[in-house]
Amino acid sequence: METYRDLERDLEDMREYYRYGKTKEASWRKSQLKGLLTLLKEKEGDIFKALNQDLGKHHVEAFRDEIGTLTKTVNTALESLKDWMSSKTAKLPRIALLTSAEIVPEPLGHVLIISSWNFPFGLSLEPMIGALAAGNTVVLKPSELAPACASLLANAISTYLDNKSVKVIQGGSSVGEQLLQHRWDKIFFTGSAHVGRIVMSAAVKHLTPVTLELGGKCPAVLDSLSSSWDMKVAVKRIIFGKFGCCAGQACIAIDYILVEKKFTYTVVELLKNTIKEMFGENPKESHSIARIINKQHLLRLKNLLEDPHVDASIVYGGSVDEDNLFIEPTILVDPPLQAAIMTDEVFGPLLPIITLEKIEDSIQFINSRPKSLAIYCFTKNKTLQRMMISETSSGSVIFNDTIIQYAADTLPFGGVGESGFGRYHGKFSFDTFSHEKAIVRRSFLTDFWFRFPPWNNYKLQL
Ligand code: NAD
Repeated sequence: METYRDLERDLEDMREYYRYGKTKEASWRKSQLKGLLTLLKEKEGDIFKALNQDLGKHHVEAFRDEIGTLTKTVNTALESLKDWMSSKTAKLPRIALLTSAEIVPEPLGHVLIISSWNFPFGLSLEPMIGALAAGNTVVLKPSELAPACASLLANAISTYLDNKSVKVIQGGSSVGEQLLQHRWDKIFFTGSAHVGRIVMSAAVKHLTPVTLELGGKCPAVLDSLSSSWDMKVAVKRIIFGKFGCCAGQACIAIDYILVEKKFTYTVVELLKNTIKEMFGENPKESHSIARIINKQHLLRLKNLLEDPHVDASIVYGGSVDEDNLFIEPTILVDPPLQAAIMTDEVFGPLLPIITLEKIEDSIQFINSRPKSLAIYCFTKNKTLQRMMISETSSGSVIFNDTIIQYAADTLPFGGVGESGFGRYHGKFSFDTFSHEKAIVRRSFLTDFWFRFPPWNNYKLQL
């Protein structure tokens, strides 16, 4: 079994370094964030290569989803650090005469980040930016399934950041389990609900706070938009939110579409045409769609299609090229709801459409399933918009677009229920890796005599 030697000693050295206090200084935090910025700039070409090697991502997609987004996040953190680190005055009840109070953010301490393979840089560095800005020491375990990216992260981070306080430990599940046996002040996990449960059980031992960024099935509700222009825009954004983001291997990718039965034909035709516009007549030749991460995941996706009832529901695509880890963008109409494609997270380029009598039925459909990380809803109907917000529960609700919530520093990113808990991005990341300490300062002057014993009823009446 793969293990990391000298883990205990390395972690103790990091804890010792934390106690020494260096990471709490604003200058240290700034230098680490600047180090990340330089890393992203100087290693841009290597990052593109690694993402292409592991996932067949086009460098424009790689820039949009990883380098560009991360550069923006580091810049936001650098610009906001002074404000985030500053204590905030808190109001007290009037009875607290000559007393002041403030909330001081302090780093949690020594934190572990375990990340997934689909956005190997984004999902590793986005939380790391928050952890460093908040003044923590950090161990990152990237996913072994994107090995070129994991090895680049390890080499680059040891070159550009303070390696006494930031370490990348590579390895698979056994190294992950080894890490989880140790005491951490926070564990930030991105991955499956199955491993999320393992992480949470391990955290119980030391009462470690945990953030779980998990997945699930994100629906896209497509209302009968009145104009054909709007419909085209909606479908374009749907195709982008499915096949244009790591070929659907994204936690916030659309998992399935809900549409009124009478619009099925129109929607399918638009989807087919848009796929052709974006990826050509033969998408296998296209460099604009990522490859499946490995053979095991490809076979998992292929299996989803092999159920004869599911196979019969394919209206477009469906071909699988095992040697080139490629699955054609595939559309299915009304596969059986009990089939794995409708019960498990798809996480790939297969897009089922489920038809409903009325679009309002989508609320009940969504509510009868585990809570998702995102709900996408294409509608101009304000009543439906209100219902979607107030009658469903999910990490986010996005009207008339897909994926853009990920890039917004001002919005909390995270799940609810089965899609996880905790939140990050922008200031939310800083807060996720900080403890908000309450500070109260009193003067020695003036005291209300009735707050002290001996008790009597008269004191109660005051
Ligand atoms: P995974 O749970 O298999 O692995 C995630 C990480 O956990 C990897 O680094 C892996 O090495 C590690 N790991 C695996 N077994 C472990 C164990 N026993 N102990 C400790 N660590 C262990 O998930 P994955 O295949 O990398 O990612 C796919 C899942 O992640 C999907 O469900 C997807 O929706 C979800 N995801 C969520 C987000 C989000 O931001 N919410 C982002 C990306 C992916």
